[in-house]
Amino acid sequence: MTSTDVPAGLMTPHVLVLGGAADARSLISAMQAEPGLNLRVTLSLAGRTSNPSPQQPGAICVTQRVGGFGGAEGLADFVRQQRVACIIDATHPFAARISANAVAAARMTGVPLLRLVRPGWQAGAGDDWRDVADMAAAVAAIGVAPRRVFLTIGRQNLAAFMAAPQHVYVARTIEAADADVQLAHVSWIAARGPFSLAGELALLRAHGIDIIVSKNSGGAATSAKLAAARQLGLPVIMIKRPEYSGGEETGSVADAVVWIRRMIGPHHGACPAAERGE
Ligand code: NAP
Repeated sequence: MTSTDVPAGLMTPHVLVLGGAADARSLISAMQAEPGLNLRVTLSLAGRTSNPSPQQPGAICVTQRVGGFGGAEGLADFVRQQRVACIIDATHPFAARISANAVAAARMTGVPLLRLVRPGWQAGAGDDWRDVADMAAAVAAIGVAPRRVFLTIGRQNLAAFMAAPQHVYVARTIEAADADVQLAHVSWIAARGPFSLAGELALLRAHGIDIIVSKNSGGAATSAKLAAARQLGLPVIMIKRPEYSGGEETGSVADAVVWIRRMIGPHHGACPAAERGE
């Protein structure tokens, strides 16, 4: 069955989860663990990562689709064609375009939307954070004098640092950076979190890092770098999250499951074998 065919008569409520961050998989695991939740899920990924983390199997039918929808209109078409009952935007807090498209598509179709977004990190005692609005401001905030910079911003915005070739960079990404990202002095580290405090301390010391650039992504998996920076007295240039002007939001996977239950109403019975592709 292709992703656009919906056999007539399949009435199991269909939930669209926009993924691309660990939160979507946590949500689906929580749904799988929830007794009596009868629905089917489409997990949508942009396709940026060639080896996404595997999904835990369970009783709920989860279909994965990969690739853009073609803007807000394309997403709205998908929602209508696939008779989506509700949408969970569990994309990364910095994935502003797909989140805005989800808001627009929800308005166009009248389908309820919830954004599941992990809380941002907060600076505490002993932290030396410099909040900046965007990547260009982050580059400027490193300063003119050459520094040894740890870039933990993912791979998408690294080209911005080509404007400051005087620095020595250590860039950690899950996937290799695009070929057009040419940094004069750079060490590449390919790694996927979670990262430990001991590991982060060792990395920062080994590379003689004196400043860190991070997005305020939030979450426990990658927060050890901030504790390590605090311990070593290193400044962190913290890029603020993009604005979000959508509707309902939660930072809690459990609350998202309660919301889904409320949106789909009472449904009984097991997921039909045909929908599990059997
Ligand atoms: P973006 O700028 O918000 O989205 C760009 C385009 O990619 C969207 O307009 C959409 O294309 C497509 N897209 C994004 N997420 C999608 C999804 N879940 N399913 C289908 N299409 C999707 O996003 P981004 O910053 O490039 O991030 C891409 C993906 O990587 C997101 O899913 C995000 O959760 C994940 N991610 C991003 C970051 C980050 O820092 N930005 C970090 C970790 C993971 P169409 O308009 O054609 O539909």
